[in-house]
Parts: sequence; C-alpha cells; structure tokens
Amino acid sequence: AGQRVVVIGGGTGGATVAKYLRRLDNTLDVTLIEKNAIYTTCYMSNEVLSGDRTLESLQFNYDGLKAHGVKIVTDEVTGINYDGKLVLTKGGISYPYDRCVVSPGIDFRYDQIAGYSEAAIETIPHAWKAGAQTVVLRNQLLAMPNGGTVVIAAPPNPYRCPPAPYERASQIAYYLKQHKPNSKVIILDPKTSFTKQALFEQAWTELYGYKTSNAMIEWWSGDTKAAGVVGVDVASKTAITQFGDRVQGAVLNVIPPQKAGKLAFDADLVDSTGWCPVNKLTFESTRHANVHVIGDACMADALPKSGFAANSEGKVCAAAIYALLNGQEVESPSFSNGCYSLVGKDYAISVVGVYRLSDDGKLVESIPGSGGVSSATATAQDRLFDASYAYSWYNNFTQDVFK
Ligand code: FAD
Repeated sequence: AGQRVVVIGGGTGGATVAKYLRRLDNTLDVTLIEKNAIYTTCYMSNEVLSGDRTLESLQFNYDGLKAHGVKIVTDEVTGINYDGKLVLTKGGISYPYDRCVVSPGIDFRYDQIAGYSEAAIETIPHAWKAGAQTVVLRNQLLAMPNGGTVVIAAPPNPYRCPPAPYERASQIAYYLKQHKPNSKVIILDPKTSFTKQALFEQAWTELYGYKTSNAMIEWWSGDTKAAGVVGVDVASKTAITQFGDRVQGAVLNVIPPQKAGKLAFDADLVDSTGWCPVNKLTFESTRHANVHVIGDACMADALPKSGFAANSEGKVCAAAIYALLNGQEVESPSFSNGCYSLVGKDYAISVVGVYRLSDDGKLVESIPGSGGVSSATATAQDRLFDASYAYSWYNNFTQDVFK
C-alpha cells in the first residue's frame, strides 16, 4: 500500500494504465505527468477533414482521471534517473517511483524525406498527431480549388494506425465529392499492400469511381510505380518518389516514417529499431528495470500500433504492476484490437483481432481463428450498422480511457 507509480504521457495508453491502477488498488499513489492540459484523440480525426465532426468533439481533459484519484501534473518529462528511481521534469520537480510507465506515443523521422522538416508542417501538414495539425490540413482542403489534387504520402511499416491513411483518403474524397467534384486524391505508397485493402478498394469503387477515368481516389502501389515519397519541394507542394517522379498537389499531406516518441530516446528505452523492446508478459522494458513501456512506442509484435491496442496493453500492464508490487505471479495476458474505418457517409468497414502470448512467452501472437474483417458481401444496411458501431465504439472507448 502507498507504493508510487508514475505514468509519463496522458494519451490513450497512459490514461488507461493510470485509471486501471487506481481501480485495482485505491491505496496506490498514481501520478500522471502529461505536457498538455487537453488531449485530442487521433481516432475520428479524419472526420474533421471531411467536415463531419468538430475538433472540439475529440477533446478530453483529465477531470475524469482526477475523480479516480490519479494525481495529474501538467509538465514535460525530460528524462528518468534510473539509479535514483526519479522522473525528471522541465518544471524542475522530480517524482520518485517504485514503478514507472512510459507511453509517449510516436515521433517522426523527418530526415528520411529530403527537404521536409518540422519547420515545413504548416505548409505540408502530417496531421498524424491530432490538434492544430488537423486544422491546418482541413483549412487547406477548404481553400483548394475544384479540380485540384490532394496528394497523401503514406508511411512505411510500422506506423501508428495501419488503416488510417486509407480512411483519410476516403474522408477527403467524401468531402471533395460533395464540394469539389472535379478534384481527386492520390495516395503515394511505399508499400505494396495495406490492411483491409480489398474492403477499402470495394468501397472506393462503389463511392468514388475507383479505377475509372473519373476516379476520385488513386492508389499508387510501391511496386508498380515505386511510389514511396523520399523528398518534397515545400514551396511548390511537390512530392518526389523513389524513382524520381514529381507529383504536385494543391494539398500535400506527408505522413512521415515513424519512431518512438522523443522521451523514449532521451530515457534510453529504444533499441536500433527506433522502438522500445519490452517483456511481453509485463511490458517492462528489457533495457531498464522497473520501467514499463506501452502504446505505440513499444514493440508488441502482432498487435498493431492503435489506440485500441494501447488501451489493451494499459490494462495488462496495470494488472502486471499490481501483481509485481504485491509479490504475486503475473498471469499470462490476452489482448484485443478493433478498428473501424469510416469510408463515406453511413459506410464503415472494420477489423477485430484477439491475441495471446506465444508458448515461450516471448511474442504477442494472433490467436488462430479469432477476429476478422467485415464481410465483402455486406449490404448497405450492414455498412450503416458498422458506421453506427464506430460511433458507439468511440463514445464507449473514450469513456473507458478518460472518464
Ligand atoms: P498517444 O495517445 O499519442 O499519447 C502520448 C502522450 O504522451 C501525448 O498526450 C503526449 O503529449 C504525451 N507526451 C509525450 N512525451 C511527453 C513528455 N516528454 N512529457 C509529458 N508528456 C509527454 N487507433 C484506434 O484504435 N482506432 C482508430 O480508429 C484510430 N484512428 C486513428 C486515426 C489517425 C488519423 C491517427 C493518426 C491515429 C489513429 N489511431 C487509432 C491510433 C491512436 O491514436 C494511437 O495508436 C494511440 O493514440 C496510441 O496511444 P499512446 O498512448 O501510445 O500515444
């Protein structure tokens, strides 16, 4: 009792673990350190681009977690003193811990795209962290002419939310179809396939004339056109692909290659992959004892980098920390993931999966026969149901994380 857990990052993973630690044991002293007072969910942020949703509807404060007895500190963590078991902050206060959880999300490998940098994101937004960047991209869509092209540079694996670039293309096409019907979206992709591809392509065919001369979405695959973006010309909003093709957009949205959030580097939690290796039973770092890494920043094998997975990992990690603090055996966990993609009005597709540890306990693997994707032969009514499930998932999920 009274043992101290410090959680760094109050996003999806961090908020979940902090809340569930207090629910497991309300004598635990749980402190959550987050640099922003308000969190904006990336999930559903593609709907802001089509105009179907406001940014405010994606925003949450930390009053819900306070009500669970989590101490909220608004500050930026600068590092961890492992010998002293202290979390260090920009504000100068150090926070002692018995166990620490790190969920800092992702950062971008700007250096992999020649000519691109953080200084360019007002002109060429990534909009891969929701908030101000989402608004920049939305305003560019509003300002572009009817007949203009929106170019999306999709990232290589692994990255935050595998279906989201393709959901984004769909939401932008949905906006263009209503307001700028002579326009189109081109996705430049270094990959040769992507998640839920058959369902996305089916939806694009039904809704956006995919593969016709009037297509409002074109997907340039990494093999046929070597379409991975390796450079940009900021002033002309031109993407340069790996074969030297130049594709100019009225709007250019570059989603750069990714790595674990900066703090994970500052605290020496990453390996040469740029992500954080962890023991899959407890999510404890394999590099530093008593510190756990969850969410997008960690390597969790078959589990994708999604909010749903970060929440699942947060609950598993909370249970593991509770067991470790009380000298109990840690139970072998299972995990789940689910992801809805809204591809048009009243039209969504989804994927779910269930995961467990491999027999040797070293890997998170998909349970054979579990999960699946929406049916290829679904009716319009089924797609509408999937859309309504997407909205109720959002409401239930954000309640689970933040309230
Ligand atoms: P985050 O939620 O990003 O939280 C990290 C937090 O740490 C942030 O609040 C940050 O401010 C804080 N932080 C970082 N460094 C510090 C520091 N040094 N000090 C203090 N605080 C710090 N997932 C789904 O499940 N379903 C979806 O439909 C879905 N749609 C998406 C759509 C888009 C367009 C995008 C981009 C993502 C989507 N995702 C979706 C993915 C989801 O948003 C992420 O996987 C999830 O947010 C990961 O949680 P996290 O805790 O790892 O990181």
